[in-house]
Amino acid sequence: MKCIILIAAPAAGKGTISKYIEDKYNYKHISTGDLLRNEIKKNTEIGKKIKSIISSGSLVGDDVIKEVFEKEFKKSKSNIILDGIPRTLAQAKMLDELDKEYDNIEIDKVIHIDIDKEIAIDRIENRLICENCGSVFSKKVIKDSKCTKCGDNLVSREDDNKETFLDRYNTFLKETKPLLKYYGDKVITIYNNSTLEDIYKNVDELLEGDE
Ligand code: AMP
Repeated sequence: MKCIILIAAPAAGKGTISKYIEDKYNYKHISTGDLLRNEIKKNTEIGKKIKSIISSGSLVGDDVIKEVFEKEFKKSKSNIILDGIPRTLAQAKMLDELDKEYDNIEIDKVIHIDIDKEIAIDRIENRLICENCGSVFSKKVIKDSKCTKCGDNLVSREDDNKETFLDRYNTFLKETKPLLKYYGDKVITIYNNSTLEDIYKNVDELLEGDE
């Protein structure tokens, strides 16, 4: 089982790129952010504990992440793309442990999506997410508040505002960006400052042969 890890600042395009790779290359998309938001939506014990943490832009504890991630990971049969995990060194080590435990996983590529901070802020302020399938849209192009993929409602995330973005961005610089060093030669950086077509082209070049 191949595993692609995405490492990126908030609003750099992890969700959009994951969906593209899921649809075109048949990887299962695992987003810890989506899993956590689902816990909040269902008002579970975990959901109650993490709601305020997510709204503040801080990271949820590694133990909770391990619990929600492992549950989803164990259901995976195909190649997987990890969106939002690991975000700390402890989580990277946890993935290495899983790698040993299920010795058919291969961390194949670590894609670092780079973006200018000002462009990321503009995206955050215009971002809409489908409540059902998690697809990402921009208020600048969407005509009504319905998802073009599944027809469900599009909403703004509670943590998608400039103030929380700045906290999330600083957390990214402090906790997550250092993981690029941890993964060393496996890291490929792509820039998401331009059009979607350009970024999809970059992804296609990286995944050539995986179709
Ligand atoms: P995302 O959807 O990836 O932007 O994640 C939204 C929020 O969920 C983050 O700002 C964190 O509060 C929390 N979160 C998601 N994934 C993780 C993780 N791997 N470790 C800690 N917190 C996470």
